[in-house]
Amino acid sequence: MSLPEDKNNGPDRNKGNGPKNKQTLLVIVICLLISLVFMALFSNVMNHSTSKDITYDEFLQMVDKNEIKKVTLESGTLTIEPKDQKYTGLEVTYATTLFGDENDLKDLLSKKDVTFEKKIPDATASVISAILSMVIPFVLLIVGFSFIMRYMNKGGGMMGVGKSKAKTYVQKETGVTFMDVAGQDEAKESLQEVVEFLHNPEKYTAIGAKLPKGALLVGPPGTGKTLLAKAVAGEAKVPFFSLSGSEFVEMFVGVGASRVRDLFEEAKKNAPCIIFIDEIDAIGKTRDSRYGGNDEREQTLNQLLAEMDGFDSSKALLILAATNRPEVLDPALLRPGRFDRRVIVDRPDLKGRVNILKVHAKKVLLDESVDFDAIALATSGAVGSDLANMINEAAILAVKNHRKAVSQKDLFEAVEVVLVGKEKKDRILSQEERRIVSYHEVGHALVSALQKDSEPVQKITIVPRTMGALGYVMQVPEEEKYLNTKTELQAMIVGLLAGRAAEEIVFGNVTTGASNDIEKATKVVRAMITQYGMSEKFGLMGLSSQENQYLDGKTYLNCGDATATEIDHEVMVVLKDAYEQAKQLLLENREALDEIAAYLIQQETITGKEFMKIFHEVKGVPDEEAPTLEQQPEQPLLTENNN
Ligand code: ADP
Repeated sequence: MSLPEDKNNGPDRNKGNGPKNKQTLLVIVICLLISLVFMALFSNVMNHSTSKDITYDEFLQMVDKNEIKKVTLESGTLTIEPKDQKYTGLEVTYATTLFGDENDLKDLLSKKDVTFEKKIPDATASVISAILSMVIPFVLLIVGFSFIMRYMNKGGGMMGVGKSKAKTYVQKETGVTFMDVAGQDEAKESLQEVVEFLHNPEKYTAIGAKLPKGALLVGPPGTGKTLLAKAVAGEAKVPFFSLSGSEFVEMFVGVGASRVRDLFEEAKKNAPCIIFIDEIDAIGKTRDSRYGGNDEREQTLNQLLAEMDGFDSSKALLILAATNRPEVLDPALLRPGRFDRRVIVDRPDLKGRVNILKVHAKKVLLDESVDFDAIALATSGAVGSDLANMINEAAILAVKNHRKAVSQKDLFEAVEVVLVGKEKKDRILSQEERRIVSYHEVGHALVSALQKDSEPVQKITIVPRTMGALGYVMQVPEEEKYLNTKTELQAMIVGLLAGRAAEEIVFGNVTTGASNDIEKATKVVRAMITQYGMSEKFGLMGLSSQENQYLDGKTYLNCGDATATEIDHEVMVVLKDAYEQAKQLLLENREALDEIAAYLIQQETITGKEFMKIFHEVKGVPDEEAPTLEQQPEQPLLTENNN
């Protein structure tokens, strides 16, 4: 269960005011600066006075016209106070520079009855005021800028490029326990001792035992790696810092490294705690050039390695990381003292799937028809997130059908919704297309039923689905299988090609609807030849290797070009043989093919039981001798017709 991130509940709750205070301070400083500038600009206005420069000639004219009340001489500058103030409320003075002799001016002014005053400038005061007027704004500017710079570096708010986002993702209590994680018993067992350690570090350190600094959770997407990490934190009752690998790396070089530093700093303050790095392959890719070098990523990785070496494991700080591509990780990350533990979180087996369904069904109302074993059998290969999704879909379906509780039917329908999409009711197929799809699907089902090594048919439908299938056959094994025999694989290939074979036999023409079957069949044949050593021609030679076991399981050939050509040729031969076999089987059972296809066109969806009933009727076999088909399907081997 993914719980909403608890953003306010973290240990940093009390410190949350820090950046806010700084912000306020910054605003105050800026305001102060602005107000000082304004004060300087308008100080004259505030004093209700303004000064205007005039020429010496203009001054003499004013003297002549008796317009002057008082003249003050200071450092060679004359400040002139006129008799008339034109503007009320604003005192206007004039200023000009003294020309000629001071005494001549004195005489002239005394003749005109103008007061004359000479001021001796105070040297120290003027020096101080000059210095202050220059220094104060300068100091204020420096203080303001240093605040801004510090704010940017520390990276709060919009400038927060260098800041670890761990704070945002910290959860004081994850609220998840091992009870919430089903079907991963081995993984839980390996993590149990880590929980013990986080609980009671002294018990281990007293003896001198060192605990692992990190554990790597490896497995396909959706198997519950994040959930497990949260459960470890929940069980140990310690804070949980989580960050995804890709969140470290940004546009700017050095940001990732600073985020790693910040994350560890923050975590150390909160120890004991857990740091969880999801998708660690985003930063932990091996540093050779095969996977493409990247300075920023390498710096981030180096910082992570340095931090992992740097902290004392007795501090009870545990780093969990998750990846589905362990093969690309840098060996330095995996050496003892770093992520030395590898916990495999693989796809759940039958029992695991039953338990996961039960965990997620806890909050859902179920009726008595529900049988989780049957659903689990039908969903081999599904991961925890798929199963969680199925339960939810089933609940939605029950509501849609105005039922108070979820039934087995809803669950089966939900399985199909997750695997092949919803029914696409608005796609109307023409009569001819419905016939083609119907024969195609019955071709698959009939050939499967005719081969004793293939899986029983559970359902055949020609209702189109949103994920592209125009119809499909659902086949379910009778029990969970971990191995496939060569005969089973051969039967599977013949079954996959039988849809196309039916089209050719009945219509004398073929359609695009077999593309998915062809792709699947080719993949199986290729694997038989290059991986499983099931080809007589090549024997036990390993001709391909798997690239990413936990993702799409893609393989690449590791043989010479000539061998690759031969492999292609061999694949072609095997497929051709299988196709001929399928055609042969259908030709021998043409009557059953026609009967069942006609019934399917009429019904749109038929069950495995109905299918076998018609088959036995045509063949004249009493129904009791029919193979047991009531068992619910397992990995629905879906043979789709997708145009
Ligand atoms: P991963 O990190 O491996 O990609 P998550 O831990 O994010 O997968 O799983 C996604 C969701 O799937 C979980 O929140 C949970 O609801 C469900 N889930 C996955 N595995 C399990 C499991 N083993 N038990 C219960 N729920 C699971």
